[in-house]
Amino acid sequence: MIIAVDGPSGSGKSSTARGVATRLGLRFLDTGATYRAVTWSALERGLDLDDTAAVADRARELTLDISTDPTRQYVIADGVDVTAAIREPRISESVSKIATNLDVRAELIQRQRAIIDDAQPTGGIVVEGRDIATVVATDAELKVLLTADQEARLARRGAELAAGAVTAEQLRDQIVRRDADDATVSQFQVASDGAVTIDSTHLSLEEVIDVISRLAKE
Ligand code: C5P
Repeated sequence: MIIAVDGPSGSGKSSTARGVATRLGLRFLDTGATYRAVTWSALERGLDLDDTAAVADRARELTLDISTDPTRQYVIADGVDVTAAIREPRISESVSKIATNLDVRAELIQRQRAIIDDAQPTGGIVVEGRDIATVVATDAELKVLLTADQEARLARRGAELAAGAVTAEQLRDQIVRRDADDATVSQFQVASDGAVTIDSTHLSLEEVIDVISRLAKE
């Protein structure tokens, strides 16, 4: 069983996908974390992010241990726990550049597919990202495209703003600019066959989890 949950930044896909996995007793994979980990490593090594060959080499060399337990998420890159570091604004600001590197994508998609295969004997996995239904797992039993209007997505990230974790400008940059940058990756624009679109603008997290869990049992 594979459930694909795709959607833009701030659509709530991460909390939703984790919630569905917990509810249904499935594993969970946050594919964005793989792109973030490569970004962290490239910055850590002081690589020029425009040097696509060097960044792709880094992606291939990086040792990545990503938790698929929806209740206990961690990311270990080259032995370093980067769970918190990959969420920092400096990573969010640069990750789109890494994600448009096609050699990096090829490498990470291969790793994501291996994680998905490993999870099958345990019952299945909920995979969230941008290109899961269209590229990574086109054979997913359930494909969900989660949307929410841009203002709702900004409002959802408001808690981070209140906590002082990001500035208003960083937040707007993360959502608005990343939407634009991510739109340049062609796969994101292709609607996948048989995907169910859920507009979560006026739905609570629990309501979206309910809808997807029900669809998964059909
Ligand atoms: O989901 P999250 O915001 O953590 O993803 C970070 C970035 O990784 C996205 O903005 C996008 O550039 C990239 N990404 C991707 N393909 C995926 C998941 C994420 O290109 N499947």
